[in-house]
Amino acid sequence: MLVRSETFANMRPALLRLEDVGPGGPYRTLEDLGRLRAVFEYLFAERVPFHVALIPRWKNIESDGSWYEKGIDDPYPDEYLRKLIGLLQTAQKQGALFGMHGYTHQYGNRKMKDDNQDTATGFEFDIKNAPETKTPAYAVQRVTKSWAAFRRAGLYPHFWESPHYTHTRQQERIFELFSRVIYQPDVEGRAATNVFMSETGVFYIPTPLGYIDERNTVERVLSRLEGFDGLASLFYHPFREFPFLERATGQTGKPVFRNGLPVFQYRRDTQSDLQKLIHGFRQRGFDWVPLYYVLPKQRVSPGQSQVVFYPLPFWPRPPVQLLPEPIWPLGAGCLLPQPVVWNTVD
Ligand SMILES: [Zn+2]
Repeated sequence: MLVRSETFANMRPALLRLEDVGPGGPYRTLEDLGRLRAVFEYLFAERVPFHVALIPRWKNIESDGSWYEKGIDDPYPDEYLRKLIGLLQTAQKQGALFGMHGYTHQYGNRKMKDDNQDTATGFEFDIKNAPETKTPAYAVQRVTKSWAAFRRAGLYPHFWESPHYTHTRQQERIFELFSRVIYQPDVEGRAATNVFMSETGVFYIPTPLGYIDERNTVERVLSRLEGFDGLASLFYHPFREFPFLERATGQTGKPVFRNGLPVFQYRRDTQSDLQKLIHGFRQRGFDWVPLYYVLPKQRVSPGQSQVVFYPLPFWPRPPVQLLPEPIWPLGAGCLLPQPVVWNTVD
Protein backbone atom coordinates (compact mmCIF):
# COMPACT_ATOMS: atom_id res chain seq x y z
CA MET A 1 0.00 0.00 0.00
CA LEU A 2 1.32 3.39 -0.87
CA VAL A 3 1.02 6.30 1.46
CA ARG A 4 2.23 9.84 1.51
CA SER A 5 5.34 10.51 3.48
CA GLU A 6 4.59 11.59 7.03
CA THR A 7 8.04 13.06 7.48
CA PHE A 8 7.19 15.83 5.09
CA ALA A 9 3.64 16.27 6.32
CA ASN A 10 4.43 19.61 7.91
CA MET A 11 6.54 20.80 5.06
CA ARG A 12 5.20 22.72 2.13
CA PRO A 13 7.24 21.43 -0.80
CA ALA A 14 7.84 23.50 -3.93
CA LEU A 15 9.29 22.30 -7.21
CA LEU A 16 11.21 24.30 -9.80
CA ARG A 17 12.01 23.15 -13.33
CA LEU A 18 14.17 25.14 -15.74
CA GLU A 19 12.53 24.74 -19.14
CA ASP A 20 13.65 24.28 -22.75
CA VAL A 21 17.40 24.23 -22.21
CA GLY A 22 19.33 22.92 -25.22
CA PRO A 23 22.08 23.47 -27.80
CA GLY A 24 20.51 26.40 -29.63
CA GLY A 25 18.05 29.28 -29.47
CA PRO A 26 18.74 31.50 -26.47
CA TYR A 27 21.68 29.24 -25.49
CA ARG A 28 23.51 29.10 -28.83
CA THR A 29 26.68 31.07 -28.08
CA LEU A 30 29.47 30.71 -25.54
CA GLU A 31 28.29 34.00 -24.00
CA ASP A 32 24.83 32.49 -23.53
CA LEU A 33 26.40 29.45 -21.84
CA GLY A 34 28.23 31.81 -19.48
CA ARG A 35 24.87 33.38 -18.63
CA LEU A 36 23.20 29.98 -18.17
CA ARG A 37 26.01 28.94 -15.84
CA ALA A 38 25.40 32.06 -13.74
CA VAL A 39 21.72 31.07 -13.33
CA PHE A 40 22.67 27.51 -12.29
CA GLU A 41 25.25 28.86 -9.86
CA TYR A 42 22.79 31.28 -8.34
CA LEU A 43 20.44 28.35 -7.56
CA PHE A 44 23.25 26.24 -6.14
CA ALA A 45 24.40 29.16 -3.99
CA GLU A 46 20.83 29.58 -2.70
CA ARG A 47 20.62 25.81 -2.06
CA VAL A 48 17.62 25.44 -4.32
CA PRO A 49 17.26 21.91 -5.73
CA PHE A 50 16.17 22.25 -9.35
CA HIS A 51 15.25 20.25 -12.44
CA VAL A 52 16.22 20.93 -16.03
CA ALA A 53 14.01 19.98 -18.99
CA LEU A 54 16.71 19.37 -21.60
CA ILE A 55 16.12 19.23 -25.36
CA PRO A 56 18.96 17.06 -26.71
CA ARG A 57 18.84 18.27 -30.34
CA TRP A 58 18.06 21.77 -31.58
CA LYS A 59 16.78 22.51 -35.11
CA ASN A 60 15.39 25.68 -36.59
CA ILE A 61 15.18 27.66 -39.81
CA GLU A 62 17.38 30.76 -39.72
CA SER A 63 16.28 34.17 -40.99
CA ASP A 64 18.28 33.58 -44.20
CA GLY A 65 16.38 30.33 -44.81
CA SER A 66 19.24 27.97 -43.88
CA TRP A 67 18.91 25.26 -41.21
CA TYR A 68 20.52 25.39 -37.78
CA GLU A 69 21.05 21.99 -36.21
CA LYS A 70 23.11 20.85 -33.24
CA GLY A 71 22.74 17.98 -30.78
CA ILE A 72 24.45 16.87 -27.58
CA ASP A 73 24.67 13.56 -29.48
CA ASP A 74 26.63 15.00 -32.42
CA PRO A 75 29.33 12.43 -33.26
CA TYR A 76 31.97 15.17 -33.53
CA PRO A 77 30.94 17.84 -31.03
CA ASP A 78 32.40 21.27 -31.76
CA GLU A 79 33.88 23.56 -29.13
CA TYR A 80 30.47 25.02 -28.29
CA LEU A 81 28.93 21.58 -27.73
CA ARG A 82 31.86 20.41 -25.64
CA LYS A 83 31.46 23.47 -23.43
CA LEU A 84 27.69 22.99 -23.13
CA ILE A 85 28.07 19.30 -22.24
CA GLY A 86 30.76 20.15 -19.68
CA LEU A 87 28.49 22.78 -18.14
CA LEU A 88 25.58 20.32 -17.90
CA GLN A 89 27.76 17.56 -16.45
CA THR A 90 29.07 19.92 -13.79
CA ALA A 91 25.53 20.96 -12.89
CA GLN A 92 24.55 17.28 -12.68
CA LYS A 93 27.45 16.56 -10.32
CA GLN A 94 26.33 19.45 -8.14
CA GLY A 95 22.83 17.99 -7.92
CA ALA A 96 20.74 19.35 -10.80
CA LEU A 97 18.21 16.74 -11.95
CA PHE A 98 17.93 16.55 -15.73
CA GLY A 99 15.06 15.12 -17.72
CA MET A 100 14.27 14.34 -21.35
CA HIS A 101 12.11 17.06 -22.92
CA GLY A 102 11.39 15.21 -26.15
CA TYR A 103 14.24 14.72 -28.60
CA THR A 104 13.98 17.84 -30.80
CA HIS A 105 10.82 19.58 -29.49
CA GLN A 106 9.77 20.17 -33.11
CA TYR A 107 8.73 18.23 -36.18
CA GLY A 108 9.72 18.17 -39.83
CA ASN A 109 12.40 19.42 -42.16
CA ARG A 110 10.58 22.21 -43.93
CA LYS A 111 8.66 25.36 -43.04
CA MET A 112 5.40 24.53 -41.30
CA LYS A 113 2.40 26.36 -39.96
CA ASP A 114 3.13 28.15 -36.66
CA ASP A 115 6.85 27.39 -37.14
CA ASN A 116 6.37 23.86 -35.88
CA GLN A 117 9.73 23.03 -37.55
CA ASP A 118 11.57 25.10 -34.91
CA THR A 119 12.81 23.62 -31.64
CA ALA A 120 11.12 24.85 -28.44
CA THR A 121 8.31 26.38 -30.51
CA GLY A 122 7.14 23.21 -32.22
CA PHE A 123 5.24 20.19 -31.03
CA GLU A 124 6.88 16.78 -31.39
CA PHE A 125 3.91 14.42 -30.91
CA ASP A 126 0.28 14.23 -31.98
CA ILE A 127 0.64 16.80 -34.76
CA LYS A 128 -2.21 17.57 -37.12
CA ASN A 129 -1.67 16.24 -40.65
CA ALA A 130 1.39 14.27 -39.51
CA PRO A 131 -0.10 10.85 -38.68
CA GLU A 132 3.25 9.23 -37.88
CA THR A 133 3.64 11.59 -34.89
CA LYS A 134 0.59 9.99 -33.28
CA THR A 135 1.89 6.41 -33.24
CA PRO A 136 3.43 4.42 -30.38
CA ALA A 137 6.31 3.45 -32.70
CA TYR A 138 7.17 7.13 -33.16
CA ALA A 139 7.15 7.63 -29.40
CA VAL A 140 9.55 4.68 -29.00
CA GLN A 141 11.85 6.09 -31.65
CA ARG A 142 11.97 9.58 -30.15
CA VAL A 143 12.38 8.56 -26.50
CA THR A 144 15.10 6.09 -27.53
CA LYS A 145 17.01 8.81 -29.38
CA SER A 146 16.63 11.22 -26.48
CA TRP A 147 17.89 8.64 -24.00
CA ALA A 148 20.83 7.72 -26.25
CA ALA A 149 21.74 11.41 -26.54
CA PHE A 150 21.73 11.76 -22.74
CA ARG A 151 23.99 8.73 -22.43
CA ARG A 152 26.41 9.97 -25.05
CA ALA A 153 26.69 13.27 -23.17
CA GLY A 154 27.18 11.52 -19.79
CA LEU A 155 23.86 12.81 -18.49
CA TYR A 156 21.23 10.94 -16.57
CA PRO A 157 17.51 11.53 -17.20
CA HIS A 158 15.29 11.50 -14.13
CA PHE A 159 12.04 12.16 -15.97
CA TRP A 160 10.26 12.41 -19.28
CA GLU A 161 8.31 15.49 -20.37
CA SER A 162 6.61 15.73 -23.76
CA PRO A 163 6.93 19.06 -25.60
CA HIS A 164 3.95 21.28 -24.72
CA TYR A 165 2.70 18.35 -22.59
CA THR A 166 1.27 16.88 -25.79
CA HIS A 167 1.10 13.22 -26.82
CA THR A 168 -1.59 10.59 -27.42
CA ARG A 169 -2.91 8.24 -24.78
CA GLN A 170 -1.18 5.29 -26.47
CA GLN A 171 2.10 7.19 -26.56
CA GLU A 172 1.73 7.92 -22.87
CA ARG A 173 1.72 4.15 -22.25
CA ILE A 174 5.04 4.03 -24.12
CA PHE A 175 6.62 6.81 -22.06
CA GLU A 176 5.51 4.94 -18.94
CA LEU A 177 7.58 1.99 -20.10
CA PHE A 178 10.64 4.19 -20.38
CA SER A 179 10.43 6.52 -17.43
CA ARG A 180 9.20 6.13 -13.88
CA VAL A 181 8.59 9.83 -13.58
CA ILE A 182 6.56 11.80 -16.09
CA TYR A 183 6.84 15.47 -15.19
CA GLN A 184 3.49 16.67 -16.54
CA PRO A 185 -0.21 15.87 -15.99
CA ASP A 186 -1.43 12.57 -17.46
CA VAL A 187 -3.79 12.67 -20.45
CA GLU A 188 -6.77 11.75 -18.31
CA GLY A 189 -6.22 14.71 -16.01
CA ARG A 190 -5.81 12.70 -12.82
CA ALA A 191 -2.58 14.56 -12.06
CA ALA A 192 -3.92 18.04 -12.73
CA THR A 193 -2.97 19.56 -9.38
CA ASN A 194 -1.16 16.87 -7.41
CA VAL A 195 1.22 13.95 -7.79
CA PHE A 196 -0.54 10.90 -9.16
CA MET A 197 0.65 7.30 -9.41
CA SER A 198 -0.68 5.28 -12.35
CA GLU A 199 -1.79 1.63 -12.15
CA THR A 200 1.61 0.78 -13.59
CA GLY A 201 3.44 2.55 -10.78
CA VAL A 202 4.55 5.56 -12.80
CA PHE A 203 4.51 8.95 -11.09
CA TYR A 204 3.04 12.02 -12.74
CA ILE A 205 4.15 15.38 -11.42
CA PRO A 206 2.12 18.36 -12.63
CA THR A 207 3.06 22.05 -12.69
CA PRO A 208 -0.24 23.67 -11.62
CA LEU A 209 1.38 27.09 -11.10
CA GLY A 210 2.36 27.16 -14.78
CA TYR A 211 5.33 29.23 -15.93
CA ILE A 212 6.39 32.83 -15.54
CA ASP A 213 5.61 35.20 -18.40
CA GLU A 214 4.09 38.64 -18.91
CA ARG A 215 0.66 37.43 -17.82
CA ASN A 216 1.57 34.87 -15.17
CA THR A 217 4.00 37.18 -13.37
CA VAL A 218 6.01 36.30 -10.26
CA GLU A 219 3.72 38.59 -8.24
CA ARG A 220 0.66 36.76 -9.51
CA VAL A 221 2.12 33.31 -8.74
CA LEU A 222 3.10 34.43 -5.24
CA SER A 223 -0.39 35.79 -4.61
CA ARG A 224 -1.86 32.43 -5.62
CA LEU A 225 0.22 30.60 -3.00
CA GLU A 226 -1.97 31.79 -0.16
CA GLY A 227 -4.40 28.92 0.43
CA PHE A 228 -3.16 26.99 -2.59
CA ASP A 229 -3.94 23.30 -2.02
CA GLY A 230 -2.28 21.79 -5.10
CA LEU A 231 1.40 20.96 -5.56
CA ALA A 232 3.42 24.20 -5.60
CA SER A 233 5.19 23.34 -8.82
CA LEU A 234 6.14 25.55 -11.75
CA PHE A 235 8.66 25.98 -14.53
CA TYR A 236 10.84 28.87 -15.61
CA HIS A 237 12.74 29.69 -18.80
CA PRO A 238 16.28 30.59 -17.68
CA PHE A 239 16.90 33.05 -20.55
CA ARG A 240 14.45 35.35 -18.77
CA GLU A 241 17.27 35.95 -16.29
CA PHE A 242 19.76 37.11 -18.90
CA PRO A 243 18.83 40.84 -18.76
CA PHE A 244 19.61 40.76 -15.04
CA LEU A 245 23.19 39.59 -15.63
CA GLU A 246 26.37 41.51 -16.44
CA ARG A 247 29.91 40.52 -17.43
CA ALA A 248 32.30 40.14 -14.52
CA THR A 249 35.51 42.10 -14.94
CA GLY A 250 38.89 41.72 -13.27
CA GLN A 251 40.97 44.41 -11.56
CA THR A 252 42.23 45.71 -14.89
CA GLY A 253 38.69 45.97 -16.19
CA LYS A 254 39.14 43.00 -18.49
CA PRO A 255 36.35 40.43 -18.79
CA VAL A 256 36.88 37.31 -16.67
CA PHE A 257 36.68 33.78 -18.13
CA ARG A 258 36.34 30.44 -16.33
CA ASN A 259 36.59 27.07 -18.09
CA GLY A 260 36.54 28.90 -21.39
CA LEU A 261 33.25 30.66 -20.73
CA PRO A 262 32.78 34.34 -19.86
CA VAL A 263 31.82 34.87 -16.23
CA PHE A 264 28.52 36.62 -15.61
CA GLN A 265 27.13 37.90 -12.33
CA TYR A 266 23.78 39.25 -11.20
CA ARG A 267 23.38 43.01 -11.28
CA ARG A 268 23.17 44.46 -7.81
CA ASP A 269 20.79 47.30 -8.58
CA THR A 270 17.72 45.12 -9.17
CA GLN A 271 16.10 41.82 -8.24
CA SER A 272 15.47 39.30 -11.02
CA ASP A 273 12.26 37.33 -11.51
CA LEU A 274 13.95 34.13 -10.38
CA GLN A 275 15.33 35.81 -7.26
CA LYS A 276 11.88 37.16 -6.40
CA LEU A 277 10.42 33.70 -6.95
CA ILE A 278 12.97 31.85 -4.82
CA HIS A 279 12.69 34.27 -1.89
CA GLY A 280 8.93 34.79 -2.27
CA PHE A 281 8.22 31.07 -1.89
CA ARG A 282 10.49 30.80 1.11
CA GLN A 283 8.95 33.83 2.80
CA ARG A 284 5.58 32.10 2.45
CA GLY A 285 6.81 28.95 4.18
CA PHE A 286 7.62 26.78 1.17
CA ASP A 287 10.73 24.62 0.81
CA TRP A 288 12.31 23.96 -2.58
CA VAL A 289 12.76 20.20 -2.97
CA PRO A 290 13.91 17.68 -5.57
CA LEU A 291 11.11 15.69 -7.18
CA TYR A 292 11.90 12.53 -5.21
CA TYR A 293 10.61 14.24 -2.08
CA VAL A 294 7.06 14.44 -3.36
CA LEU A 295 6.70 10.82 -4.45
CA PRO A 296 4.56 8.53 -2.30
CA LYS A 297 6.27 6.14 0.08
CA GLN A 298 5.76 2.40 0.48
CA ARG A 299 4.28 1.16 3.77
CA VAL A 300 6.54 -1.70 4.91
CA SER A 301 5.16 -2.46 8.35
CA PRO A 302 2.49 -1.04 10.65
CA GLY A 303 3.57 2.45 11.57
CA GLN A 304 6.52 2.43 9.20
CA SER A 305 6.87 3.54 5.63
CA GLN A 306 9.84 3.35 3.39
CA VAL A 307 10.81 4.10 -0.10
CA VAL A 308 13.89 2.75 -1.81
CA PHE A 309 13.73 4.55 -5.05
CA TYR A 310 16.29 3.65 -7.66
CA PRO A 311 15.95 6.62 -9.91
CA LEU A 312 16.27 4.59 -13.07
CA PRO A 313 14.41 6.04 -16.01
CA PHE A 314 13.83 2.55 -17.36
CA TRP A 315 12.02 -0.27 -15.76
CA PRO A 316 14.05 -3.41 -15.06
CA ARG A 317 11.90 -4.93 -17.79
CA PRO A 318 12.53 -2.83 -20.87
CA PRO A 319 10.10 -3.15 -23.73
CA VAL A 320 12.75 -4.97 -25.73
CA GLN A 321 10.40 -6.08 -28.45
CA LEU A 322 9.63 -2.45 -29.23
CA LEU A 323 13.18 -1.25 -29.49
CA PRO A 324 15.15 -0.98 -32.69
CA GLU A 325 18.32 -2.04 -30.86
CA PRO A 326 19.04 -3.30 -27.33
CA ILE A 327 19.75 -0.37 -25.03
CA TRP A 328 19.73 -2.26 -21.74
CA PRO A 329 21.68 -2.66 -19.52
CA LEU A 330 23.24 0.76 -19.13
CA GLY A 331 26.58 1.09 -20.81
CA ALA A 332 29.86 1.91 -19.17
CA GLY A 333 30.45 5.59 -18.58
CA CYS A 334 26.84 6.39 -17.85
CA LEU A 335 26.55 8.12 -14.53
CA LEU A 336 24.11 6.46 -12.17
CA PRO A 337 22.82 8.33 -9.16
CA GLN A 338 22.79 6.62 -5.80
CA PRO A 339 19.52 5.02 -4.72
CA VAL A 340 17.35 7.33 -2.68
CA VAL A 341 16.19 5.79 0.61
CA TRP A 342 13.79 7.27 3.11
CA ASN A 343 12.34 5.79 6.26
CA THR A 344 9.34 7.49 7.71
CA VAL A 345 7.52 6.78 10.92
CA ASP A 346 3.79 7.38 10.89
ZN1 LIG B 1 9.19 22.91 -23.90
